[in-house]
Amino acid sequence: MPKWGDHMHSEHFGRQAVFERNESKVRSYCRSFDAVFRSAKGSFVQASGGEDYIDFLAGCGSLNYGHNDPDMKRALLDYVERDGIAHGLDLYTDAKADFLEVFRRHVLDPRGLDHRVQFTGPTGANAVEAAMKLARKVTGRTNIIAFTNGFHGVTQGALAATGNRGNRIGPAIPLAGVSRIPYDGYLGPQIDTADLLDRMLGDASSGIDSPAAILLEAVQGEGGLNAARPEWMRRVAAIARAHGALLIVDEIQAGCGRAGGFFAFEQSGIVPDLVPMAKSLSGYGLPMAALLIRPEIDVWKPGEHNGTFRGNQHAFVTARVAIEKFWSDGAFEAEVARKAGIVHDGLARIAEQVPGSRLKGRGMMQGIDVRTGEMADAICAAAFRDGLIIETSGPVGEVVKVLAPLTTPDEVLRRGLDILARAARTVAGQRATAAE
Ligand code: PLP
Repeated sequence: MPKWGDHMHSEHFGRQAVFERNESKVRSYCRSFDAVFRSAKGSFVQASGGEDYIDFLAGCGSLNYGHNDPDMKRALLDYVERDGIAHGLDLYTDAKADFLEVFRRHVLDPRGLDHRVQFTGPTGANAVEAAMKLARKVTGRTNIIAFTNGFHGVTQGALAATGNRGNRIGPAIPLAGVSRIPYDGYLGPQIDTADLLDRMLGDASSGIDSPAAILLEAVQGEGGLNAARPEWMRRVAAIARAHGALLIVDEIQAGCGRAGGFFAFEQSGIVPDLVPMAKSLSGYGLPMAALLIRPEIDVWKPGEHNGTFRGNQHAFVTARVAIEKFWSDGAFEAEVARKAGIVHDGLARIAEQVPGSRLKGRGMMQGIDVRTGEMADAICAAAFRDGLIIETSGPVGEVVKVLAPLTTPDEVLRRGLDILARAARTVAGQRATAAE
């Protein structure tokens, strides 16, 4: 491999200037990775100087099957070559029909789910917005219960349910209609926050209006890899039912195999009323979002939630291949569980080198809480210099988060974890020396 850190040559800086000059300051992930990327395959990404990086970010969870899967690519090229419909208006197309059939056969039916699929605008927040709006329409109530450190997107409705302080921009934006309750474990192991939720909803004078829905992630991705206990999920589902609220489980990051099972909620045995999906749904990194709706509450009037881009045909093609290839039997799921064990063991070894750190998460969304955002940033930066792309999450960015493609070969997974271990050792060593 080339030596990392030697790649900051003039051509590279020349390309960087284009973004500095032209792109809004709002750009974010690119700021952590001082490179201009040009191609990618599987679990590797290549920068324009020719450096290869192992990718433990995977398009922030939108590439669960790795970059440019050959079968998805072939199907997409064939579709484009035969002049398949390319626009995104919600006409009936063969690409959409094929996706819907395959999704029902391999994902919904085997799990006993009879949900219908609503195609929303192409990003995850669009699916969350649709879920919140439909829940309000169904129940005639406004309030939505969301949880501490939940992340659901940055459009205004979804943002109201998002805790992340960096996205909420303080008081300048009215973020209304959401009440916040502590997530599982937020108040420590002794306090079951489902009791608090039940008590507050049962008290007409608690100050929390009867909710249209309770909205949660089974594993909080951006919130720091907090994994809810299955029994907590079951209690929250029961509380929602008892109080006439719908249950929305946001599977945008934890779904499509990331946290174990196709859906992260499967482990708890609950059946949500509404399930927003996006990120890895298309399988290829193409924008595609959907809302799964229990048929009894699919009370939309035609066109009541509309939009031009509600059917990315190219994404339907790759999503169909992804489901056929990875979810037509249980083999992939078992394989992902095995790889999650490799990640867990690797992270446990790293955690031993970082005083006070602890493991977080579940399945292929695990990480290490290193207590400060500054420390986590330093570890990710050192890892990047050594050829690994990895990011942080958590309330102050204190969790180094492994989001490797689920298809990453064992050997590459281990190599990436070794780079991370070196980075953690170096940074922890520097901190220890500085403290002496
Ligand atoms: N919900 C969850 C759980 C997410 O992790 C995200 C994005 O990270 C979103 C919603 C928003 O999705 P998008 O960024 O595609 O709008």
